[in-house]
Amino acid sequence: MSSDSSTSAGINFTLSADQKKVQLGARDFAENVLAPVVREADREPDPLKAFQLTKPAYVEAYKRGIAFCMLPKEYGGGGLTNIELILAAEEICAVDPGFACTVLVNGLALMPVWYWGTEQQKKRVMQAATSDPSGEWIAGYAASEPPGTPGGTANFDTPLPHPVGIGVTARFDGDSYVLNGRKYWPCNVAGWDGRGANINLVVVRTDPNKGGTEGLSAILVERGTPGVTYNLIDTFGHRLTPNSEIIFENARVPASNLVEGTLGNGDLLINRNFAWSGPVAGIAAVGVARAAYESALDWAKTYTAGSPHPMIYFQNVGYVLGDVAARIEACRYFCWKAAHYIDQHDYHGELIGALNKTYCTETLLDSVYKCMQVVGVNSADRKHMFEKFLREAAILPIYDGGNFGMQRRRVHGVLASPNFNPRALMDDEYVEFTKEMETIDTVQRPEGPAGRPQERLTHA
Ligand SMILES: Cc1cc2nc3c(=O)[nH]c(=O)nc-3n(C[C@H](O)[C@H](O)[C@H](O)COP(=O)(O)OP(=O)(O)OC[C@H]3O[C@@H](n4cnc5c(N)ncnc54)[C@H](O)[C@@H]3O)c2cc1C
Repeated sequence: MSSDSSTSAGINFTLSADQKKVQLGARDFAENVLAPVVREADREPDPLKAFQLTKPAYVEAYKRGIAFCMLPKEYGGGGLTNIELILAAEEICAVDPGFACTVLVNGLALMPVWYWGTEQQKKRVMQAATSDPSGEWIAGYAASEPPGTPGGTANFDTPLPHPVGIGVTARFDGDSYVLNGRKYWPCNVAGWDGRGANINLVVVRTDPNKGGTEGLSAILVERGTPGVTYNLIDTFGHRLTPNSEIIFENARVPASNLVEGTLGNGDLLINRNFAWSGPVAGIAAVGVARAAYESALDWAKTYTAGSPHPMIYFQNVGYVLGDVAARIEACRYFCWKAAHYIDQHDYHGELIGALNKTYCTETLLDSVYKCMQVVGVNSADRKHMFEKFLREAAILPIYDGGNFGMQRRRVHGVLASPNFNPRALMDDEYVEFTKEMETIDTVQRPEGPAGRPQERLTHA
């Protein structure tokens, strides 16, 4: 077996000077600007007030180029690669993943405009986002919908027409679309005052007669649009990012706000967005677990638990923390690989993004709890951070496309495809994500007790 240096140059775990600069810059922001506001904001019971407490940190993040670091330089963004993005995200998530989620959602709202918008839309929206002298500009991305019958989000690509799947409709009328229905869960959408972000990208059903692989599109809804109202949601974790309900009542939006390339492709937008955010969510789990691990190690080296020596000298403490350290390392490099893949393949990575997100968020939720077991009962005392780590880690498998109903379904759809190459990721080969890979697992058993809701919702 022989090798030449050019073939090994692709794998390098040593950060370049530029990557290190991004990492250290984010660490400085997280530890010195964000950390001082986290405790008070996390404990504030009113979700809007909690979010408002983060505003000075957000404005500082904006000034430092963090808030829109993911957008291309051409439109005023930071032009970070996806690798650089997750290096920064780990640092911020180790301090507060909710705040990081606010920044992530700026990307979920505006990256699709970059991918699919007209040149006029790109200039108008991205340049506005990146040139705000107040540093408060914020964007929301609204795909998710409220629970109910019909309701929910996971089956957005179900092949059946309205009322299953995405329920917010956008009816074409003259030179506008008229929006009706409700969204539930999106971050940022209500803005700093509960009356709207600067802009929201909303996934809507533009053709109620078509299923989720044909009838969905995305439209930009500007702050101040009549007929749009917001209600903040009180969550148990990620409390520094504002989740909200949106109600559309005959809200009229100019037809020119429809992101051109998404007409009939809102399904692909949702999947590509979750591909891009996969390693960001994965690295959020790394950041939270890292914080829990470092705190538990510090605890174990300091406290004796009634014995003559610090707890770290108990074998189980050392073994368990070692296992946690291994998982953090493994997940971190999986995130690097996923981000690198997305860099290599034009911001696609529907398969690896989902694999990465599910694996890291579920593996490391358990690790956070293991750290708590090592610390013992004192981890339940809210004056320490462990209960917050657990609340944050528990959000990660269920947000950003739930691992059960959305992320694993995407993986299943790709694996079931007749042409799927199981070595594609290993060989860094492009795995094209197509509409044929969608809809899998969306239609339950149509008869018997489990089929009853289906019968109620299926309209001829
Ligand atoms: C902090 C936070 C931030 C968020 N930010 C945003 C945002 O910015 N924008 C946005 O649009 N949304 C946002 N969300 C919502 C988030 O993306 C959810 O993951 C998404 O709404 C889907 O939730 P779900 O998968 O639980 O869907 P649901 O439709 O509620 O599904 C519920 C459950 O049903 C089961 N299920 C449903 N269908 C299937 C199926 N076909 N196969 C197998 N099981 C199935 C699964 O067990 C699934 O967990 C956010 C949520 C949180 C908590």
